[in-house]
Amino acid sequence: MERKVRVRFAPSPTGPLHIGGVRTALYNYLFAKQKGGTMILRIEDTDQGRFVPGAEEYIIDSLTWLGIKFDEGVHVGGPYGPYRQSDRKPLYREYADKLISKGWAYYAFDTPDSLEEIRKSYEAEKKAFQYDVTTRNSLRNSLTLSHEEAQQLIADNHPYVIRFKMPENQDIVVNDHIRGRVVVHSGLLDDKVLFKSDGMPTYHLANIVDDHLMEISHVIRGEEWLPSAPLHVMLYRAFGWEDTMPEFAHLPLLLKPDGNGKLSKRDGDRLGFPVFPTQWQDPKTGEISSGYRESGYFAEAVINILAFLGWNPGTTQEMFSMDELIHAFSIERISKSGAKFDVEKAKWFNQQYVRQHSGVELAKLFMPELKGKGISIDEAKLAIICDLVKERVSFIKELWDQSYFFFKAPDTYDEQVIKKRWKEDTALHLQQIALILENTSPFETQPAHDNVVTYIQENALNMGQIMNCLRLVIVGAAIGPDLFTIINSIGKAEAVKRINKGVDEIKLLT
Ligand code: GLU
Repeated sequence: MERKVRVRFAPSPTGPLHIGGVRTALYNYLFAKQKGGTMILRIEDTDQGRFVPGAEEYIIDSLTWLGIKFDEGVHVGGPYGPYRQSDRKPLYREYADKLISKGWAYYAFDTPDSLEEIRKSYEAEKKAFQYDVTTRNSLRNSLTLSHEEAQQLIADNHPYVIRFKMPENQDIVVNDHIRGRVVVHSGLLDDKVLFKSDGMPTYHLANIVDDHLMEISHVIRGEEWLPSAPLHVMLYRAFGWEDTMPEFAHLPLLLKPDGNGKLSKRDGDRLGFPVFPTQWQDPKTGEISSGYRESGYFAEAVINILAFLGWNPGTTQEMFSMDELIHAFSIERISKSGAKFDVEKAKWFNQQYVRQHSGVELAKLFMPELKGKGISIDEAKLAIICDLVKERVSFIKELWDQSYFFFKAPDTYDEQVIKKRWKEDTALHLQQIALILENTSPFETQPAHDNVVTYIQENALNMGQIMNCLRLVIVGAAIGPDLFTIINSIGKAEAVKRINKGVDEIKLLT
């Protein structure tokens, strides 16, 4: 029987979620939705020292913004809860004890200081110390102490940890959907701490216990967890859960734009793009890190960008909605090699999404900025303007620079254009054109255009030169959509006023 698909996104609330983490959440979501499975949000907060207030809320808020929805989790509940590991604390001790009684784990009483000393003595001999099969028999643990001694230490509240007893001579096989068959010899692995002296489980124990109890079918996570996978496989074996062990898929790293190393928070700051989905303010330092949302990216664009960082559909199609991704996604098409972040491509995606929005939708998004500038305009009229200029922008925040001339006369005139196009008789001809526009009735795009063109032709003037100068006084620069559409939009009186103002002001500049 096909196994019911249950996947989890299991972040630790140690700060804002990196876009690599968002990609992990996305791939889990796409896989779950395609298979009619369940998507779970589990918060892994067993490392109390690294807990950052606000991080859990941040994770939920940013994934909600992106449209990555959960069927079960800390914020929505569900039949396998609680979904926050600190709320499941008593459970883990029980499972650690199970491993001890089966002989798969043991108490270790070595103090951090004593271990540090040993580590140093190894270093002095240019060797690396590992708590493992070669050293455990000479250290202070329940394998070397008598049963009574060990029990006495525990009764005396002597601090201890519980370690996994990694078998000596086994080949551990991890079958990974992306990396293939990975074989690691157990003799190379150390006796990882499963349960800490603070009464909390480590990531490894809590992760395996929860994946088992929550009946997780597939573990899809970042490649940085691949080295832990052999231990995890051994833990399933030790618990006797191997037959229901989840399948693994370790996702390739997200790399810096030049491909040299993992994408870090600093790269984003240095190269001018966010590495977090939404803005984050560090609760301790107050430092603000930029987010895609606040930088003007559409959630749909971010999803599209992340989907392609490590996966491709095998076709030339680049634009994918969430539903299309759910349909097209496959773990088999995830690449093994790291995915380079490409800033220009990210902007390109956002530009495509701007274009997909209707003028009415863009007007709604642009309106608050205009209001902030004290400009009031009818939404239907703004929608037309947005349609006229949307091909020229990649972000909503760029709309103003491409459309300000619909709302106000230019304050400055591009000197390059003046230098190149403004001739001695230009002022005179523009004043004539102002008169022509004044007499154009009905005042609409086509007749205004035709009348001006006729004037230019009848006087054997240079079309490009005059038109560029007319644009200069109306717009202030050599930008914008069709000039007569602009002239029609601002109206006869305003157009005439701008021509006269431009002529007067440029006179002073030439
Ligand atoms: N808590 C781990 C993390 O922060 C989860 C790793 C896993 O998915 O097993 O990435």
